[in-house]
Amino acid sequence: AQSGKVVNGQSLKIPGVTDIFAVASGKGGVGKSTTAVNLAVSLANKCRLKVGLLDADVYGPSIPTMMKLHGKPEVGVAKKMIPIENHGVKCMSMGSLVEKDAPIVWRGPMVMKALEQMTRGVDWGNLDILVVDMPPGTGDAQISISQRLQLSGALIVSTPQDVALMDARRGIKMFSKVEVPILGVIENMSYFRCPHCSEPSFIFGKGGARRTAEEMGMAFIGEIPLEGEIRSGSDEGVPIVVSKPDCAVSIAYTDVAQKV
Ligand code: ADP
Repeated sequence: AQSGKVVNGQSLKIPGVTDIFAVASGKGGVGKSTTAVNLAVSLANKCRLKVGLLDADVYGPSIPTMMKLHGKPEVGVAKKMIPIENHGVKCMSMGSLVEKDAPIVWRGPMVMKALEQMTRGVDWGNLDILVVDMPPGTGDAQISISQRLQLSGALIVSTPQDVALMDARRGIKMFSKVEVPILGVIENMSYFRCPHCSEPSFIFGKGGARRTAEEMGMAFIGEIPLEGEIRSGSDEGVPIVVSKPDCAVSIAYTDVAQKV
């Protein structure tokens, strides 16, 4: 649970929020947002927790599409924004605040200011868990977010591919430096099962994330296959854990959620 720690005169606790977990990746395009969305919805619908989802990927916000969010958040009491809710999860994203397709060309300090607004400037109500979809990479923004939000833990998403794993190792080291516990590594796009013969193909290599987790003394907490329905669910704003809650992939997501 969060402490009442104070940095630069500011309390780090978000009122009403018990724990904050980051879903992170060293590299873009490995399925970090897809994982964050399916986990957040599983935590809400299967684990029956009160869940929020913060899209901290300010330059490439994909949560409004993946969670089918419409409109802009309204402003409530004390000028706090009301998060937009769908699939049982309260969401906040830069994509809901700016016009669609508008480029975000801010420098670092502006981004941090926006993130401050999107966390403490939001009326989250009471949340058991706030899931943070981190920006990809291990730079200043990621370090600032980790420190300012007093993360309870981080999940690292990687594909089994060497280049992705190399960046995943960097991510693990970054979180260790800022003393955020790593909850474990999730392998995404682990294999593709042929719809005709059911034979799995290990398109991005086999078992890489499990090996990396073991080498670094981290827990390996699950593998998610490459599957058309995961992609279409993300594009259509209806995550697979909502459209097919009992399929093998949704069960795998729920398994991971239960380990959080
Ligand atoms: P990131 O947040 O790491 O940039 P995204 O979650 O946006 O990655 O995923 C990148 C693309 O890959 C998206 O089009 C998404 O729908 C797709 N995708 C992610 N995970 C899977 C998966 N397991 N199977 C099929 N498509 C996936």
